[in-house]
Amino acid sequence: MSDKKTANGGKIKKIPMRQCLGCNEHKPKVELLRVVRTPEGEINLDFKGKMNGRGAYICWNPACLAKARKSRRIDRNLECEIPEEVYDRMEKELKENV
Ligand SMILES: [Zn+2]
Repeated sequence: MSDKKTANGGKIKKIPMRQCLGCNEHKPKVELLRVVRTPEGEINLDFKGKMNGRGAYICWNPACLAKARKSRRIDRNLECEIPEEVYDRMEKELKENV
């Protein structure tokens, strides 16, 4: 059987995927944690998924945040320079929330 039709009539629900900037894995957006640059220029972890602003995505994993920090990929993705103390704060917050 080569056709990919599903039981509900062939409609495959599209899940928005995003790439983690730490481990490079693609995962459903809802399973990732958003790092947001707000219109005011603040960098925050968006634990509730409701913040306004430009977002970058990482796994709920301090190791992925550390990797993304090292490679500066969040900075590049959000087109701004993230200060060390902001990374420190985000790492702490993430560890408390995992
Ligand atoms: Zn990851």
